[in-house]
Amino acid sequence: MSMKITPLAFDSMGVRSMSCFIQGDRNILVDPGVSLAPHRSGLPPHQRELEQLAKKRKIINEKGEKAHIIIISHWHNDRHTPFTTELYGSVTLQMASRLYQGKSIFGKSLSGLNYMQKRRALSFLDYCSFTPADGLSFSYGDMKITFSQSVPHGAAHRIPVIMVVIEGERKILHASDTQGISGIQYILQESPDLVLMSGPPVYRMSSEQIQRAQSDILALADCTGEIILDHHHLRDLKYREQLPEVWKNTKVKTAAEYLGHPNLLLEARRRELFREQCPHL
Ligand SMILES: [Zn+2]
Repeated sequence: MSMKITPLAFDSMGVRSMSCFIQGDRNILVDPGVSLAPHRSGLPPHQRELEQLAKKRKIINEKGEKAHIIIISHWHNDRHTPFTTELYGSVTLQMASRLYQGKSIFGKSLSGLNYMQKRRALSFLDYCSFTPADGLSFSYGDMKITFSQSVPHGAAHRIPVIMVVIEGERKILHASDTQGISGIQYILQESPDLVLMSGPPVYRMSSEQIQRAQSDILALADCTGEIILDHHHLRDLKYREQLPEVWKNTKVKTAAEYLGHPNLLLEARRRELFREQCPHL
């Protein structure tokens, strides 16, 4: 059966997320969450960001209705729909129940989590169970789903994430928030057709760390088909100048570009958005 991948919500689309939908022998919704930066340049989310958040949440819920399997790569609020009424009023308990009801749910296990991660995972478990998926593998018809062992969330070792390889007609690897910093060997070994990965958060890295991430991502580009590089990396408007060799490579795209859309960097442009309303800001 053919496989189709649709990026649903990413930072290049104006929200914090790496949610995507894969259609195949089973329909899989990866990381069904979306959030915004609570503070950026001393400012709260702009109205346009709040509108985008609501729009993306709706899209994720619609795809959720068609999904058989839901995957949660780690316990940040931009990776799952929590059973709360937080996140700018964009979620409700009923919404979360509806999304997860009747689905097979695979998530990062509780092992190695820091305090906040564990708290979120446990509050999820108060309402809904999931299969701790670290290192496991499952087959559904012609489709195989393989989870990596835990790897660090970029340089943050106390925030473990799991990557997932979905293999059928194509081989897709969702590398979550590895940021071109962790999990590199695993991705090289798997050699997928398409990688979806958070790029390095260049705004808080030294120039040596940026150089290292750049050469690691170029090594990945050599052994993979295409790379969607997005999320943390796009919170700095100068991201292309920070990794010039990576962005010269035609295999590398943001999620919006992969869909043929222009990038919509709302968080990185927050101050600009407020200034348009209030020029003296
Ligand atoms: Zn994260």
